[in-house]
Amino acid sequence: MIRSYLRRRCRPDIVVASVQEIDPEALRARGIRALLLDLDNTLVMWRSFDLRAEVSAWVERARRAGLQLCIVSNTSSTRRVEPVARQLGIPYTARAAKPSRRAFRRAAALLGVSPSQVAVVGDQIFTDVLGGNRAGMLTILVNPINRDREFISTRIMRLLERLVWGGIHADRVALAPAAERECRETRRSADTL
Ligand SMILES: [Mg+2]
Repeated sequence: MIRSYLRRRCRPDIVVASVQEIDPEALRARGIRALLLDLDNTLVMWRSFDLRAEVSAWVERARRAGLQLCIVSNTSSTRRVEPVARQLGIPYTARAAKPSRRAFRRAAALLGVSPSQVAVVGDQIFTDVLGGNRAGMLTILVNPINRDREFISTRIMRLLERLVWGGIHADRVALAPAAERECRETRRSADTL
């Protein structure tokens, strides 16, 4: 029963390989006005400050498409979030305590949008996806940038993710044509997962 609850609550609406595969114009067209972005292994490698040029370019593209952006991170240190947020020119929240709904809802209120107008983007099912779903937001799961560099608790979470899902990340939804993989709607393909 717990497993079926988790499967329902932990199901992302969209699965992509990386943030660069998210189509900001398509999200805007379906009524999304703001993106709440995870930091570690979504925008940058864990414990890294290095923003890849393609990530910065994607953020710029999202902004041009009319989306507001905000980093929502569980990291306890603002020293890590602040430089990345500054480089991207977007606001941030640290110590978000995801999967708590509070930080997501507060960020949405700060940006002046309702939960249904928000998409949560992150690499972890039990923090980003579960929290986003609980907050009534669209959820987008990305593959972690680097699975070899992760906090020990994150590694344990990955094991639990596999128990619940048997692997839902985009690279494990194999053999789909590239165009199909882009912005894959998992709700549509949930039967096959
Ligand atoms: Mg993360």
